[in-house]
Amino acid sequence: MCTHPNKKTDPRRLEAELAEVIEQVRGTDGGEPSDYLADVDGRDPDSFAVAVCTTDGVQADEGDESRAFALQSVSKAVTYAVALQERGLEPVLQRVGVEPSGAAFNELTLHADGRPYNPLINAGAIMTHALIPGDDEQARMRLLLQRYSDLAAAELSVSQDVLDAELARAHRNLGLAHMLQAADMLPDDAPEVVRGYLAQCSVEVTVSQLATMAATIAAGGVNPVSGERVLEEWVVQQTMSVMFSCGMYDASGQWMAEVGIPAKSGVSGALMGAVPGALGIASWSPRLDGQGNSVRGIGVFEELSARWDLHVLRHRDAMAGLREITGGNAGG
Ligand code: GLN
Repeated sequence: MCTHPNKKTDPRRLEAELAEVIEQVRGTDGGEPSDYLADVDGRDPDSFAVAVCTTDGVQADEGDESRAFALQSVSKAVTYAVALQERGLEPVLQRVGVEPSGAAFNELTLHADGRPYNPLINAGAIMTHALIPGDDEQARMRLLLQRYSDLAAAELSVSQDVLDAELARAHRNLGLAHMLQAADMLPDDAPEVVRGYLAQCSVEVTVSQLATMAATIAAGGVNPVSGERVLEEWVVQQTMSVMFSCGMYDASGQWMAEVGIPAKSGVSGALMGAVPGALGIASWSPRLDGQGNSVRGIGVFEELSARWDLHVLRHRDAMAGLREITGGNAGG
């Protein structure tokens, strides 16, 4: 990694590091790909790709990096950011909380006040999708695709095959949406919102595009590849906070302690992490553990966090702001 503040990271060094990490983690076996996706495209369960994009716009990828995969639950974090940006903080908080649920992602429970616990479990993600402005399903999805594409610096689209597979198995998500409608939380027709939510889950990306999305979040909302401001700073701060506390399903606490990077995983084996001010990381490997997180993805993030000292709670001098306020003496 570069040490000089004005010198850009060398992409070849990054690629060499990623190639080493892939070799190191490839042998990690265990886990099974999600059964409902396996029949969609005959995807090789041993596919494996890793990419990074730094906040100064340097990109590197390795492995099966040209293959596209569905965002799945990773989309929940991105849609939350778009909802915050479009609606503002308070209107979103009135509809969906920010507390870890401690239960599985598709749990059929709501807060006592009727709100889903957080936007990264299915109930909260369905609620959040409904907050995207637009008169109908198509309008909401057009806006989301535009924002997702801005974050990725690429034109993204929905995989119809994945969406068809999702729609054929949507009973539990429909149950969640009806539950929200019964609690007067969903303003719209429940089945329409579920169709939209499943379409956002079916947006396909390459690992490099996913790393760029993460890097835009890490860079305070400015896409480091296109130079475009996509999200405001408070939006990415709020989004990363929820990713940190809730992004890895009911393994989020362990992830926070061991890896220390705000992240979001998906049932396709996708994993995206944002290290504020530093870089975005993405991995894709379809074999999942019991909590639904990619087994090798966890291995990649553990290794990169240790190698590059990325744990966001590592000890560092954070007194600069206070020193400025107190005239230079705070903290000695
Ligand atoms: N589309 C999936 C669902 O809602 C997403 C699940 C996931 O990635 N955990 O069932």
